[in-house]
Amino acid sequence: MVLREAARRISFCVRESDTVSRLGGDEFIVILTQIQHSQDAGRVGEHVVKSLSEAFIIAGQNSFLSASIGIALYPEDGKSAEALIKNADTAMYRAKAGGRAQTVYFEENMNAMAVARVTLDRDLRRAIDRGELKLLYQPFIDLRPGGKCGAEALLRWNHPELGSVSPVQFIPIAEESGYIEHIGRWVMHEACRQMKQWQTDGVALDRLAVNVSARQFRKPGLVDLIAECAHAAGIAPSCLEVEITETVLIDHGPAVEQMLQELVAMGVSISLDDFGTGFSSLSYLKRFPVHTVKIDRIFIVGLGRDTDSEAIVAAIIAMAHALGKTVTAEGVETDEQWLLLRKLKCDRVQGFRFSRPLPAVQFAQFVTANNALTLAGA
Ligand code: C2E
Ligand code: MG
Ligand code: MG
Repeated sequence: MVLREAARRISFCVRESDTVSRLGGDEFIVILTQIQHSQDAGRVGEHVVKSLSEAFIIAGQNSFLSASIGIALYPEDGKSAEALIKNADTAMYRAKAGGRAQTVYFEENMNAMAVARVTLDRDLRRAIDRGELKLLYQPFIDLRPGGKCGAEALLRWNHPELGSVSPVQFIPIAEESGYIEHIGRWVMHEACRQMKQWQTDGVALDRLAVNVSARQFRKPGLVDLIAECAHAAGIAPSCLEVEITETVLIDHGPAVEQMLQELVAMGVSISLDDFGTGFSSLSYLKRFPVHTVKIDRIFIVGLGRDTDSEAIVAAIIAMAHALGKTVTAEGVETDEQWLLLRKLKCDRVQGFRFSRPLPAVQFAQFVTANNALTLAGA
């Protein structure tokens, strides 16, 4: 019914002589003939985006959809139907990546970038077997009396030709292709194994935090995976902290709530990463079992420099505390930021001021030295 209504609306936006067809799934192709200027296609595109953004009333329920449109022009962007469709498709992916509900014209350099993405995605699928992935660990320090160090596991990919590729680059690609599920499984196994190793070596570590992507919450099985990894490694699930972002909560409310409840019942803590950059919704904080709020680096950077950042950080800390949550500040780089955070009663701090992400062996040395310092200071 949605597809039929969408087709009706799209047809309404074009002329009698134009063609509207459905390629499959939720993808439509519109062929506009006799356009005077290239801008005309964009105008029709905007019109389609707007008409599809209005509520779809299906069986008495309002549903909201958004459309992303890619435009390829004949003959500049391709002389054959195949080339035009391929390039329009590339532009459409750009429209989606740019935040959806928009129209994007194809540009030649998009192909080079699309090829780079495809190559990276292909190489990533071999990375686990070839041992190219590893985890680094960045400490976070608990400022409360008696507080111990924790660690956040951060993924690194050493590409055979490109060298080190940032997770900021490859995680979104893995999320789009779905391969993140395999990577996430590897990360969880490896992190638990390392935690056990540290425990065996007597490294006094409070918790290990692992980033879990929104896509991993889309399928059931995540809770079992975490339980299995902890069990296989021989650690208590209560040593683990799962870092999620707000998109997890927004996209898949009820199912995710259930999964989080199960994790919490197992003893796993939940922390909300990059807080302040998204919706920063109070109702989400209240509704979901989140233990820790991680204030995003962009607010920490401004501490001591602009009064707005300080006010925002103070407000997030006060609010989180009022709701009974712990607060971590990420991206702490200077003494000034650290002292201000201490003054504002921030519970945990993490950032280059204390340590960069480290390989496991150096991380253990850091923890031992740091715990000795805390003891000496006490
Ligand atoms: P994040 O979870 O918010 O991690 C914090 C990022 O900030 C890390 O970048 C860390 O190296 C960096 N950072 C820490 N302290 C400082 C500082 O004082 N200054 C500055 N400028 N940066 C600091 P990294 O390692 O490049 O990771 C980027 C993002 O990639 C992470 O953001 C996380 O969203 C994602 N990611 C990393 N590892 C994994 C993983 O295993 N699974 C998933 N799903 N995502 C991961
Ligand atoms: Mg994180
Ligand atoms: Mg973060």
